[in-house]
Amino acid sequence: MLGQMMDVPLSISNLLVHADRFHGDTEIVSRRVEGDIHRYTYRDAHRRSRQAASALQGLGIAPGGRVATLAWNGYRHFELYYGISGSGRVMHTINPRLHPEQVAWIANDAEDEALFFDLSFAPLIDAVAPLCPKIKHWIALCDEDRLPALKTVKPIAYETWLAGGSADSAWPVLDENAAACLCYTSGTTGNPKGVLYSHRSTVLHALGSIMPDVMGLKATDVVLPVVPMFHVNAWGTAYSCPIVGAKLVFPGSGLDGKSLIELFEAEKVTFTAGVPTIWLGLLQELQKTGQKLSTVNRMVVGGSACPPALMKAFKDDYGIHIHHAWGMTEMSPLGTFNALKEKHLSLSEDDQFKIHVKAGRPMFGVDIKIVDDAGKELPWDGVAFGDLLVRGPWIVKQYYRRDESPLVDGWFPTGDVATIDPDGYVQITDRSKDVIKSGGEWISSIDLENIAVSHPAVAEAGAIGVFHPKWDERPMVVVVLKEGRSATVEEILAHYEGKIAKWQIPDDVQFVDELPHTATGKISKLKLREAFKDYVLPTAGEALAGR
Ligand code: AMP
Repeated sequence: MLGQMMDVPLSISNLLVHADRFHGDTEIVSRRVEGDIHRYTYRDAHRRSRQAASALQGLGIAPGGRVATLAWNGYRHFELYYGISGSGRVMHTINPRLHPEQVAWIANDAEDEALFFDLSFAPLIDAVAPLCPKIKHWIALCDEDRLPALKTVKPIAYETWLAGGSADSAWPVLDENAAACLCYTSGTTGNPKGVLYSHRSTVLHALGSIMPDVMGLKATDVVLPVVPMFHVNAWGTAYSCPIVGAKLVFPGSGLDGKSLIELFEAEKVTFTAGVPTIWLGLLQELQKTGQKLSTVNRMVVGGSACPPALMKAFKDDYGIHIHHAWGMTEMSPLGTFNALKEKHLSLSEDDQFKIHVKAGRPMFGVDIKIVDDAGKELPWDGVAFGDLLVRGPWIVKQYYRRDESPLVDGWFPTGDVATIDPDGYVQITDRSKDVIKSGGEWISSIDLENIAVSHPAVAEAGAIGVFHPKWDERPMVVVVLKEGRSATVEEILAHYEGKIAKWQIPDDVQFVDELPHTATGKISKLKLREAFKDYVLPTAGEALAGR
């Protein structure tokens, strides 16, 4: 027997229809690459998104056609999120921090037909366009007056193009399983792979993400997604904010501490989300200037492990709670989110903090397990660690245009290694490729980095395994010192004493001015390993001499 309820498909356009009807005058504020602040409302965004949908018709892109963006977080990008997906086409956000050849490879793999770009990426377009002959339309996100003259293609101005569209027609009714947006994985090894989200998966993920023990978003919130709209759809915030009617603040290209503080304060931001590197930069700026954040009360950190020292500094010195979250492109991206349970409320602050630093527990919709090398499920005791597998309605089933399924018995192997405690809290030990294997024993690079960053002179740290003649690999930590601070190798190594087992303490420390980062702001272990591949550890000589 079937249920007898209305058959209303879940669709991305309905999120914005809702925001227009019930939060029509709520603001969306954007810092533009043009240098000014732009303000309008959900109602305006809805009107212009429908115009964009109609103007896409004019470009001759059929339903299902892929339309790419190379753009910062801003109102025009937001309109395209809805105009492209809502009209039945596929919104393909590309990470502009990638090398031009990678951008072109991704655009060609996706078979993008049009590409919208922010003015700051005009030189990138000149590098990419000759490699992408199938892209027929190049649209600069600006008005006619600011249209850039490019060497390779003749772009059209977004505002002129948009004015040709009509806001009169209603959104088409789409199959909820139709493709809506496409993101490519960071691809640290091999070519990146496309993850093709559906309307259904996107809406379910957005609904899941606003729950109280997840992002807990409300109509009284002012949300500033620092995480880019080209990094897994800004973790869904462009979809979740319209559901609750939260005010949105888009930072454009200003992601440094100073620019963020200005915007946080001016727009009374309450909630923000980003990768640890961004929050490290913000913390340093706050410490340097002595400023406080008067309205921000929650921050989400994900994309890489959050150093406990960072969480502690924001909590103790600024009264801001950092929520640790974990997920990945293949998971839309949210999988776990950190929030306490009722039974934890009576714990001491220190014991609560031990829970806060974990990656959190799965939100409804996501199931998890850890397995050993033979695929046997491991216990949830907070000690046993193994490969983390996930499943749920917003988790990838198949990569875009790849035949083979990545699933193992219906579960997606994340490539992360983790423990799960009896309450379901996940602790990510490492990316399986980054685990340091010393004499057959595993050392968590995340643990080593977190300890280094808790040293008062250390700003950022990356731990890698370096060849060792006796142990195969031994850990080394590569450190960036805080401005004006100094420390010696011995001091950093002494800081590890008593915090981990002796054999896990790194063999060496290297000081660098800057660590290499990936296009999504993670420390690039690949580049770090590459940089030190011929490095001879001081302990290697001792081993060879038989000491
Ligand atoms: P991406 O697909 O670029 O979002 O990268 C996903 C990967 O980032 C995950 O598989 C993890 O290795 C890493 N990651 C994300 N969040 C966390 C976290 N809270 N702690 C540790 N690693 C994380």
